[in-house]
Amino acid sequence: MVWIFLGPPGAGKGTQATLFAEHLGVPHVSTGDLLRTAVKAGTELGKKAQSFMDAGNLVPDDLMLDLVRETLAGRTGCILDGFPRTTVQADALAGMLDEIGLGLDGVVRLNVAEPMLVARIASRAEAEGRADDTVETVRNRLRVYGEKTAPLVDYYRGQGVLNDVDGEGTIEEIQDRIRSTVGSGGDS
Ligand code: AMP
Repeated sequence: MVWIFLGPPGAGKGTQATLFAEHLGVPHVSTGDLLRTAVKAGTELGKKAQSFMDAGNLVPDDLMLDLVRETLAGRTGCILDGFPRTTVQADALAGMLDEIGLGLDGVVRLNVAEPMLVARIASRAEAEGRADDTVETVRNRLRVYGEKTAPLVDYYRGQGVLNDVDGEGTIEEIQDRIRSTVGSGGDS
């Protein structure tokens, strides 16, 4: 079972993907979390990724594909949060899933208006102190999302696997919407 959570920074992907993964009993795989761990641990990947992350830019596709290939190996399912973020990554993911014999169940796209995104990121910045939650970086991350990641909405809509969910409301309301939109997790 593989679900992708898609949405701009601040849309609530991390929170909602975590809850959805618990609900389905499959691992939650956040590429942002994996990268932050690598940066903290000072690994080769972390050293290469840090400057891109700090500026709010995407980490190059080849690094991301190596990371995800390694993470997916041997898994029977997962909730992907923050990956794919480019059409190159989406094409490569399709190939990897094919290779390991997994199908894509669907994509959950969280829709949140821009003023709400900015407000949510500001409150996360206070709570978590993420290095890339500064005003300037957030502006860049939103721009990068529009340029590089938003095209995946049409990409997955074209494949008939896109589930649009209103991402405004309480955490519980949004999770309920996700579950009722995608059914019990089997069909999209
Ligand atoms: P996130 O926690 O998903 O917002 O990711 C934080 C940062 O990690 C992003 O702004 C990117 O710099 C990097 N990142 C995470 N996932 C990806 C990805 N799939 N492709 C490229 N960069 C990524």
